[in-house]
Amino acid sequence: MIQKMSQVPTQLFIDGKWVDGGQEAVPVKNPANGETLAEVSQGAEEETQQAIAAAKRAFPLWSKKAPSERAQLMNKIADMIEEEADRLATIMTLEQGKPLKESRAEVLTDVENFRWNAAEGQRIYGEIVPAPYDHHWLVRKQAVGVVAAITPWNFPSNMIARKIAPALAAGCTLVMKPSKETPLSALALVDIFDRAGMPEGVVNIVLGSSKVIGKVLTDSDDVRKLTFTGSTKTGQLLYEQCAATLKHISLELGGHAPFIVFEDADIPSAAENLLAAKFRNNGQVCTAPNRIFLHKTIKEEFTQVLLDKISSITVGNGLDDPDIGPVINEDGLKKIEEQLEDASNKGARVLYGGSRLTKRPYADGTFFEPTILDGVTNDMQIYYEETFGPVIPLIEFTDVDEVIAAANDTEFGLASYFFSQDLQTISKVARELDYGMVGVNEMAISNPAVPFGGVKHSGFGRENGKYGVEEYIDVKFIDINTQLEK
Ligand code: ADP
Repeated sequence: MIQKMSQVPTQLFIDGKWVDGGQEAVPVKNPANGETLAEVSQGAEEETQQAIAAAKRAFPLWSKKAPSERAQLMNKIADMIEEEADRLATIMTLEQGKPLKESRAEVLTDVENFRWNAAEGQRIYGEIVPAPYDHHWLVRKQAVGVVAAITPWNFPSNMIARKIAPALAAGCTLVMKPSKETPLSALALVDIFDRAGMPEGVVNIVLGSSKVIGKVLTDSDDVRKLTFTGSTKTGQLLYEQCAATLKHISLELGGHAPFIVFEDADIPSAAENLLAAKFRNNGQVCTAPNRIFLHKTIKEEFTQVLLDKISSITVGNGLDDPDIGPVINEDGLKKIEEQLEDASNKGARVLYGGSRLTKRPYADGTFFEPTILDGVTNDMQIYYEETFGPVIPLIEFTDVDEVIAAANDTEFGLASYFFSQDLQTISKVARELDYGMVGVNEMAISNPAVPFGGVKHSGFGRENGKYGVEEYIDVKFIDINTQLEK
């Protein structure tokens, strides 16, 4: 294991070189046992300015390359990530905690992101608009320029890949700032870019205080686009900070997904899907089902199926590939406990689980039991606040319009899910849910080909698919007058 970690760089990557930052290094901890995995170098204003300058210098070269040439390098990167998937997955599990099979699946999604965008980058077509005979009206699609990418810890590799791949395909260069909890997955990816032969300055990574680095990135006029995934609060702050330089911005923020089971649903399938989606990454997912609305006629049956199945969910060190690993840190645990305490004080009942795990082998990590909470109502924090943990809160409903109103009664609008076999219900509910994504009898709503993103306080802009590439493009109109003076 130590050998695996020793292969991961721990420095900043600026202008094609690994460099030490001027600040004191910080440790990266394993949430499964509290062990220090590595000490990672830290920078601040100066290093961020250097990274922006490097990305600015690299932009004309990278954006003028033939799309096929960019695609060739991106496909090489995809192949290398695929070949090294096991090593990258181990690094991710060690620093983030998720089960190895989930880490591996995330890394393989990176591969798809790179391949999909390598192809799409060669299809960024412009337009020829009908014009008077002696004019050519051309619409060109051009890369926006230098991009800043700030990413969170819950998907430490794929949140980067799904930003970098379309940006590179469009011809942009980047400065990245990963989360302090999970810098190693980001550094391991950048190491692959370096070994694949990425020209210097095209991708840079800075580590350090997010406030300081974020301010330099947002204040810089040389950075023309910010792409951010993280909390709504930080997204709002960054949006404000980008106003002065009028940057392009995409924000993928919090979610609080409703999951509705109608009376005509396939109950076993709905229950199985719920457990798989809820416990993926320990519920630390912005699209996780967080408010479970059950029709009163099937509530008892559905709850029983959940109770029958939940006891077989295993919790442990991600390296042993259990169903659930640790929560990211102590703050994460405290937030789950607070929500549960508040709900219990207001009349909710814990049907299963409900506590952090403190005995061996869990003692040195941040583990929480899979939990089912019944009788959740809209006076409880858990009803409105994003839950980032393995908690299933059950809410009863009786009528379609009532449940649509309840599902939409949130500031968030990222993912939503419902299970029904009735065509009229499917058609009505899919249209009326105020969300960027709706899964109908399906929870796997994210893949590199389809648009991912939210409405309301879940942000704006889309990742993945052709929409993902468009986020990195400016439209330029060129009018060529061919009527020459005699
Ligand atoms: P989370 O709760 O998922 O950590 P955050 O929004 O706090 O959500 O963090 C997401 C990313 O944003 C991380 O990389 C974090 O370091 C970064 N971040 C947090 N605060 C700021 C800030 N003020 N400016 C720039 N980046 C920030």
